[in-house]
Amino acid sequence: VKKLTDPEHFDYIIVGAGSAGCVLANRLSNDPRNSVLLIEASGDDRPWRNLRHAWDTMMIHVPVGFARTLATPALGWGYKSQPEPGTEGRIHELLRGKVLGGCSSINGMIYVRGQPEDYDHWRQLGATGWSSDDVLPYFLRSAARTPGAASGGPLNVTSAGSGGMDVSRAVMRACEQADIPIRKDLNGAEQEGVAWADLTVRNGRRHSTAVAYLHPILNRKNLKLLTGTLVDRILFKGKRAAGVRYVSGSHTGEVRARGELVLCGGTYNSSQLLELSGIGDGGRLRELGIETIVHQPQVGENLQDHVLSAMTFRLKPHVASVNELTRGLRLAREVVKYAGTRRGLLARGSVELLLFARSGPQVATPDIQMHIMPATKTSATGAQHMVAEIEPGLTFAPCHLRPESRGHSHIQSSDAAMQSDILDNYLTAVEDQTALLAGMSLVRAIAAQSALKDYIEYEKMPGTKCDSDAALMAFIRASATPMHHPVGTCRMGSDDAAGSIHSSGHGGSRDCVSSMGRSCPGSSRETPTHRSS
Ligand SMILES: Cc1cc2nc3c(=O)[nH]c(=O)nc-3n(C[C@H](O)[C@H](O)[C@H](O)COP(=O)(O)OP(=O)(O)OC[C@H]3O[C@@H](n4cnc5c(N)ncnc54)[C@H](O)[C@@H]3O)c2cc1C
Repeated sequence: VKKLTDPEHFDYIIVGAGSAGCVLANRLSNDPRNSVLLIEASGDDRPWRNLRHAWDTMMIHVPVGFARTLATPALGWGYKSQPEPGTEGRIHELLRGKVLGGCSSINGMIYVRGQPEDYDHWRQLGATGWSSDDVLPYFLRSAARTPGAASGGPLNVTSAGSGGMDVSRAVMRACEQADIPIRKDLNGAEQEGVAWADLTVRNGRRHSTAVAYLHPILNRKNLKLLTGTLVDRILFKGKRAAGVRYVSGSHTGEVRARGELVLCGGTYNSSQLLELSGIGDGGRLRELGIETIVHQPQVGENLQDHVLSAMTFRLKPHVASVNELTRGLRLAREVVKYAGTRRGLLARGSVELLLFARSGPQVATPDIQMHIMPATKTSATGAQHMVAEIEPGLTFAPCHLRPESRGHSHIQSSDAAMQSDILDNYLTAVEDQTALLAGMSLVRAIAAQSALKDYIEYEKMPGTKCDSDAALMAFIRASATPMHHPVGTCRMGSDDAAGSIHSSGHGGSRDCVSSMGRSCPGSSRETPTHRSS
């Protein structure tokens, strides 16, 4: 982590050392002819390099620590939504990692590449280089797998099956009874079905993009990393992005890019930086006293996110779940076990099983992703903090993969420290409501199978009394939470409305984050972000 000596020039400047930024810093600096500057607003993810937050950063690397780190203020941007009309006017926490590795340091570690059909659709919409055939080689060269490396990439993927619980195996059998195929690999040719989740974990430790891509290359002479440094403006030469202005403590500086500036600040922050710098809707920018460089009203529009609605089941007293391991002597035993073997409770990710299904016969490819975990949290309605219940429990959390609801993220001030006005409009589109209702019926169909008879005692949330679509919808509106997979605010493409800057003629800069996704791919969000890098 170095300081800049003004004036200094780089071939590439990357803004944001999150999922995309770490991958890109690695790939670009692999060529010794490139000089690369990586600028990150937050602190280091290594405890010994971030003593002020040593405990918090230590928890990043312990997989089960995600239940704590996702709600740790020191590791996040602390964004909140506007009151959301589709979820009873609730204000949602919009989690974004603010630490090296970005969201990959606090996320649920689920590794899903997404459906080939979605990438082919993006390609049809004008996103050149994004067809399924185009993206597959990048996925293959990014990931390795334990046990047995499928390919030689830096990012390690481990199956949750190695530590899977008995009740999860019963869920798999129940799925089979409900005509849902059991798959070996949800990243293979067929996604529809149920399988042990793949997790970005290596030897019982979270394998964030900071750990996989950045830490090993920090000694490269042609790479400079600045932490604790907020980029608050893109600097232009005419309409060409030529560098950035940054703030580090009380120091404000400028640095120039000879080649390209790459925005990797994430869905909310990249569109924020574009607008702060004069790329956005001219009228909106004028009102805030910002000179318009490019009038591009789509910047900050087209925001979409996944939202999930968790259903929980009380398990019979003799059935083992994660809940009972999280307290007292059992927890102490798990800590010792982890210290010795890197296995057990502390090596667990956010889910054990993943299920992909279609919400109805009219849908061509899976549009429901379901997270299944033999654990239940006490705060069932909305809160992000995860404290396990005392009795054994099982959670099924379906989400609609291709939301139709659209929102926005726009700056409210010319001050980069002020969060944008963010409204996702969760569940305002009828299609999103119908798909979630279908997801919940599917959960009940699985839970009713004989394979789970000896495991499930009763449905806890929403409970069997909630038996009409209206009642279920009321439950969804009151309890659904974002999955933190926002996309779309700087969408790529070749049409005039595309907000992405590399496509619209004001060269020198490109956007390389989840924000550029045209729409939600049929998966979780991190892995597709690796391809964008
Ligand atoms: C709680 C949670 C759980 C999730 N679970 C999963 C999961 O299990 N599987 C999955 O695939 N996806 C998951 N996701 C989504 C996935 O992690 C993100 O979509 C992906 O990591 C986004 O990558 P990114 O590079 O676009 O942004 P980020 O990873 O957010 O990186 C942006 C980086 O830029 C920095 N930055 C921002 N603005 C500036 C600025 N102006 N100056 C300098 N630095 C700046 C930020 O501090 C951050 O480090 C989850 C996300 C969250 C929050």
